[in-house]
Amino acid sequence: TPMNGIIGMTELALDTALTPEQQEYLDAVKASADSLLTIINDILDFSKIEAGKLEVESIDFGLREVLGTALHAFGLRASGKGLELACRVLPDVPDDLIGDPGRLRQVLNNLVGNAVKFTEAGEVVVGVEKLSEDETDVELHFRVSDTGIGIPEEKQRLIFGAFTQADGSTTRRYGGTGLGLAISSKLIELMGGRIWMESPSKDRETEVGGPGSTFHFTVRFGLGKPTVRRDDSGNGIDLRGLRVLVVDDNGTNRRILEEMLSGWEMRPTVVESGEAALAELEEVLGTDEAFSMVLLDAHMPGMDGFSLADHIRRHPDLDGVTIMMLSSSDRKEDVARCDALGISTYLVKPVTQSDLFDAIVDALTRCDAERGTGAVSQRVKDGEPEAAAVGTAGKALKILLAEDNPINRKLAVTLLRKRNWQVVAVADGKEAVAALDQEDFNLILMDIQMPEMDGLEATEAIRRREEKTGKHIPIVAMTAHAMKGDREKYLEAGMEGYVSKPMKPETLYGTIEALLGSRSEPDDFLPETSGASIDLADALDAVDGDKELLKELVDVFLDEIPRHLGELRGLIEQGDASGIEREAHSLKGSVGNFGAKAAYDLAYELERMGKDSRLDSAVEVFGRLEQEMERLRVFFNMRGWEGNA
Ligand code: ADP
Repeated sequence: TPMNGIIGMTELALDTALTPEQQEYLDAVKASADSLLTIINDILDFSKIEAGKLEVESIDFGLREVLGTALHAFGLRASGKGLELACRVLPDVPDDLIGDPGRLRQVLNNLVGNAVKFTEAGEVVVGVEKLSEDETDVELHFRVSDTGIGIPEEKQRLIFGAFTQADGSTTRRYGGTGLGLAISSKLIELMGGRIWMESPSKDRETEVGGPGSTFHFTVRFGLGKPTVRRDDSGNGIDLRGLRVLVVDDNGTNRRILEEMLSGWEMRPTVVESGEAALAELEEVLGTDEAFSMVLLDAHMPGMDGFSLADHIRRHPDLDGVTIMMLSSSDRKEDVARCDALGISTYLVKPVTQSDLFDAIVDALTRCDAERGTGAVSQRVKDGEPEAAAVGTAGKALKILLAEDNPINRKLAVTLLRKRNWQVVAVADGKEAVAALDQEDFNLILMDIQMPEMDGLEATEAIRRREEKTGKHIPIVAMTAHAMKGDREKYLEAGMEGYVSKPMKPETLYGTIEALLGSRSEPDDFLPETSGASIDLADALDAVDGDKELLKELVDVFLDEIPRHLGELRGLIEQGDASGIEREAHSLKGSVGNFGAKAAYDLAYELERMGKDSRLDSAVEVFGRLEQEMERLRVFFNMRGWEGNA
C-alpha cells in the first residue's frame, strides 16, 4: 500500500505542469519506486514460499492469451534495445488449460525479463511444445532462449539458488535481487514441473549477439473445456488457399509466421528482404500464384517495410494487394507513416496467433466492404454523417422519455425530435407514471438508474396498472449497464427493448420503429460493434451535428483523461473491484460519447471485471485502455475539427 501511494502520487505529479528538471527527478523517483516494488514483491513471494504458504491456483485459462500478454509487456524494452522478441507455440499445444495463469505469467516474466536484460543484440524467443497428453492432463515444455551474454558453466547450477547472481558485478550493471530464478524454480516445482538451463544456447537461430542462454521448464496443466475459437469460425471468411507474402529479415520470425499462416491453410511464401519481396511479387503477377496479402516487417536493413510498401502502392498492377505492417514498437510516427501509405493494419510484435488471425480477417473484411460487397459501414469514410432521415419515419409518434441526467435528456430529446416525433421528458420514474395518467403515449424510453423511482420499479408500476385497463405500452430501457443478465432483468420487469448508452441514433430509431411495427427486426440487445476505433460520425450525431459543441466536449474530455486513468490505476493497484467497476463505468460513458469504440469496449471489459471481482487481467486490459486513450488523445489533437468528419 505505501508503495502504491508513492508510485500513484508520483504518476499524478508527473501529469502536472513541470519544469524539465522536475520531470527528470520525478521520472527517477518513479523508476526507483518501480524497482523497489519489484524487490519487495520478490521478497514477499520468497518468504511465502519458504514458509510453505504459497499455493497455486487451478483455474481455466487460455495459454496463448497469457503468453501474448506476458510478452507484449516486454515489447517496448526489447525493441528499444533492437532485439527481436518472438513466440512460437506449436499447433498441437492445447489452448484451454487448467492451472495458475498468474504464476505461469510470473515465471515467464522473470525468464523473459532476464533474457531481455542480459542480451544486447539478436533475439529472445519463447517456444512451447507438448510433451505428453492424456484424457485429463497435458505436460508442456516451455523454453526461453536468448542470444545474450550467457552464463559460465560453473555458475549454471548456482543461479537457481536464492540471492545469487552469476556475476557479482551484474547487480551494479543490471540491478536485480538474485531472487527471480529461485522463485521461478519453486513455482515450477509447485506446478508439478522442473526447470533447467543451458548456455551457450543450442537452439539459437542467429549469428548475432553472444553465446546465449536457454531456460527450459515443464509444467503439467489440466485440460479445460474447449471453447469455440474464433479461429474455427473464421467469421465466415475463408482463408484457405490465400497467397501471402511474408517479408522479414529475422529468420525466427519468418519461420513462426510461415507456421501460423500454414496452420490456417493459407499459402505463404517467405522472403528476407524488400528487394526479394518485389522480385517475388513481380514474378507471379497475373498468375494463379499472385499474392492477395503482404505481411511486412517495418524495420529491415536495406529497403525497410515502409519503402517497400511505397513501392507496392505505386506499382500499377499491385493495387489490390492488402498490406499489413508488423513492427516491434508502437511508435506514433510509424503509425502515422502507415496511415499515409494507406496501410490499414499495424501489428506490434510479438504477434500472437489470435492477434494475427483477427487482423487478417479484419483487413479482408474491410477490403470486401471497400469493394462494396461486405457489411461494414462506410459512413465514416464518406465524411458526411448521414442526415438522420428527418421525417422519413413519417408516423406521428408521441414518446415519453424518463431520464434524470439533464445532458442525456437533452440528447435523447434532440435525437427523437430529429425524427419529427413528439417528446415529453420527465426526470424520474414517479413523474413518468404520473405523466402516463395525464396523456397517452406510443412508447416510453426509460432510463434504469433514476432517483425517487428507478426504471424497473416504474415499469412494474405501469404494468400493474395496465392489468386493470387492458392497455399495453411498449417500454424501452436506456442504460449504460449493458451487463450480462441485465437483459433478463429488464424483460422480467416488463420492458420489451433496450438501447445501450451512449445511444447510437440508428439503434435508437431502429429499436423504436421495430417495436412500433414500422420495421421488421428489433436490433439486438447487445452493444453494437464497429471496426473503427473512433467513429466521428457517431460523435457528431450524438451532438446533433454541432461541431463547436463537440469540440468543447472533446477539450473537457482531454483534460480529464489523466485524472480518470490515474484514478483507475490506483484502484487496480489496490485491487478495489467495486471502485474499478464504478470508475470504468464512468470512463466508458465519457468515451462512448465520442464514438470511441475500442476504448469503450476496454472500459466495459474493466467494468465487468470489477463487477465480477475478476481482476487477474485487469492490469493488462488497463494497459490496453491507456494505449487506446493515448491514441484518442493524439487523434483529437491532430485532427482538430476544421472541416473534418
Ligand atoms: P536477478 O535477475 O534479479 O539478478 P535472477 O534469479 O532472475 O535474479 O537471476 C540470477 C542471475 O542469473 C542473474 O543475476 C544473472 O547473473 C543470471 N542470469 C539469469 N538469466 C540470465 C540470462 N538469460 N542470461 C545471462 N545471465 C542470466
